[in-house]
Parts: sequence; C-alpha cells; structure tokens
Amino acid sequence: MSRDLLLRGGRIVDPSQGMDTIGDVLLRDGRVESCGSGIGTPDGAEVIDVTGLVVTPGMIDVHIHLREPGREDVETIATGAHSAAAGGFTGVCAMPNTKPVTDNQAVVGFVKRQGEAAGYARVYPYGAISVGQKGETLAELAEMVGAGAVAFSDDGKPVESAQLMRTALEYARAFNVPIAEHCEDMTLARGGSMNEGIMSAKLGLKGIPAEAEEIYVIRDILLAKRTGGHIHLCHLSTKGSVELVRWGKERGINVTSEVCSHHISLTEDAVEGYNTNAKMNPPLRTAADVEALQQGLADGTIDLLVTDHAPHHYDEKEREFADAPNGIVGLETALGINCTYLLHRGIMTMSQLVDAMSCKPAKVFHLPGGTLSRGSLGDVTVFDPTRTWTVDPKAFKSKGRNTPYGGHQLTGQARLTVVGGRVVYRAD
Ligand SMILES: [Zn+2]
Ligand SMILES: [Zn+2]
Repeated sequence: MSRDLLLRGGRIVDPSQGMDTIGDVLLRDGRVESCGSGIGTPDGAEVIDVTGLVVTPGMIDVHIHLREPGREDVETIATGAHSAAAGGFTGVCAMPNTKPVTDNQAVVGFVKRQGEAAGYARVYPYGAISVGQKGETLAELAEMVGAGAVAFSDDGKPVESAQLMRTALEYARAFNVPIAEHCEDMTLARGGSMNEGIMSAKLGLKGIPAEAEEIYVIRDILLAKRTGGHIHLCHLSTKGSVELVRWGKERGINVTSEVCSHHISLTEDAVEGYNTNAKMNPPLRTAADVEALQQGLADGTIDLLVTDHAPHHYDEKEREFADAPNGIVGLETALGINCTYLLHRGIMTMSQLVDAMSCKPAKVFHLPGGTLSRGSLGDVTVFDPTRTWTVDPKAFKSKGRNTPYGGHQLTGQARLTVVGGRVVYRAD
C-alpha cells in the first residue's frame, strides 16, 4: 500500500460537484479518499502545501499525436506522456496516424502498454476508422474497443466517403464511443498552406477556405442526425463551424466539438514572415473566427479544449513554408494559453475552464476521471493561474520544439500533476 497524499490548503475547483472552495484533497490507494474543508492529516501521510494554487480534477487532452510506433525520433509515448504531465495533463488520447496505423487490436494494445510503462499520464488510444486510414474499408472497431480504444478517428485526414462515415457512426453507436472527424474537404484544401484571405494573398501562398472545414462539419452533423451516432468534430477553426454546431445542438443531434488553444489565441497574422511554426491544419484564421470560437466555448456550443499536440523534427519545419509539415507542440503551453486568453480576459470563468479541460473531456469520451468525488481516480492537476512565465521551447519535455509561442509570456502554469495518487510531475 502506498503512502497517503494530502494536498493542503488549495482552491479546489471541481465543476462535477459544483465545488469552488478552499480545502484539502486526500488521496489513498490511488483514489480520492476525501476532498473539501476540515480534513485531518492521517498518520504517515505525505503532505504538500498548495496554498494559493488551484486544485482540479486531472486535466485530459482528447486530441494529441504521439509518434510511436514509427517516428520515435520525433516523440515516443514516454516523452509525449512526460510532456503531458509537465503541462498538467493526467490523461491524453493518442491519435492513430502512426506507422503502422493504429487500426487493429495489436497496435491499440501496444500504445496502451507503452503508456502504462511510462507512467506519466494515462494514455488512451484512438483506433483508426478505416483500415490503414485509407478511407476504403471500415477497420475492426469492435476488436479495438476490446483492446482499449476509446474513440475512432482517421485524423490527419477526413473520411472522404460519406457512406463510410455513415457506417462508422452506426457501428460506433453500439459501443457508445465517439467518431472524431478531421473536417477538411481536400478538393478545396489541397495545396493550401494557410487561411485563404487577405494575408494569403499578401504572402502569395495558396489558402484553405473556411468552407473546406464547414462542408464536412455540416455533412457529419447530418450523418449523426441520420444514424443517431456520436460525431465529435475535431479542432474547429471557423465562425461558420461554430454556427453549424450550434444549429445541430439546438436540434438535439449527437454532436460534440473541440477547439485548440492556438485557434483561440492566434490569428493568421502569426504566419507573417513565413513562420513555419505557425503552420498548422486547420490553419490559423481571422480575428472574427477567434472571437467566435471563444464565444462558442463560453456558451457551451464548443465542449472542450485540446492541443492537437503534433511534434515534428526541427529540420522538417526548416523547409519552405508551403512544404513544411503542419502542427505544433502543445501540451506544455496549453494551460498557460487558456488562462491567458480565456480566463484572464474574462471569456471563461475558472469553473468553465476546468470543465472544458477536465470534466467535459471525461464525459464526452466516457473516460474515468474528470471529478474529485470520493472514490474516483486519484488524478489531480495543481496550477498557479497567476504565475507569469516565458515559453522556452528548449525546456520542453517533449522531443518537439516547434511552437509559435517561443518567447511569449503566458500567465498560468502547472505546478503539480498527480496520477493515481502518485506525483508524476512537480515544477521546481
Ligand atoms: Zn486533424
Ligand atoms: Zn490532430
């Protein structure tokens, strides 16, 4: 039996229990023993003073890319999970666009086991929707659920066949798992490397119009309506997408969605100077889009925040803008970005922020956690919402260094991450 752990004197924010109070959290045998005020210190307990800090159910990122198997030089499951812990995340869902593709029970099992062996954060594997992510044949969803897949996605690309998406939604309904879609009409997007608009014209780069995303958003909402299956829309980036999700939710359609920290904090202006660290898919959009995404989070149209953590090798991002790979390292900056751009600007309350980063990810993806209720998983995030720090990519636990936030000042930082009652990360 492990030692009890008492986190003493923090501000406990747990929307799952409607809790926002100063108190203690006691963890025993990997679970929450009690939380709130007036908790005594059991004999032999390890006590950590968290006065002045915010204590929440462990944060969960349902959209990240680990590069193992296949590109362990870029990221391994262990380095990615370490990065997660350093960013305050106790759980992550790993997308299946690995080499080989995570499209069968053997690879799903491998990802799960590697995550457990690393021990930093809980790693929940996604399974691919189609065999090899080729968009042709439905993968063995049942077999992968049995091996531990928590959701399905062909992320990196869209499911181009509406018929295949319809079938996937029908099958997944039986297992009560979401189908997560990367919304991108390739006939409109192909060859594009940034948002289509004034900036792309100025830089002479081919743009990706908002409609490339929105056409898939509405198609998939309509397929969810037809099938009753759960569609989860990944990394929404446009005002129109928010309006379409709102339309779907108002009609009771089984649709949920997410936005990335970079899409609520940066515009296409970050691309100026052909900055490949600002190259991502979907691309950074306009100020009006950013505002609509923030509003969508505030009013609950958008359910949750993710990072779309996508490490790349340094040399690969050094290419010309149009040829450079998409994506940024996200896990270690997300909490700071979300505090800076959503909390401190009054867009979201503390409780809403915790809901979007912990409770709702757990609820939408049917994962354990997302609560500090008695007997629940002993996964806890402790952070300082007022701590200002400068992003130094060289200090990342991730192997990746590609971020547009290098040198940026953020206010808000993870201080302590606890998984299963065990401290997995502690800031110096
Ligand atoms: Zn994607
Ligand atoms: Zn992704």
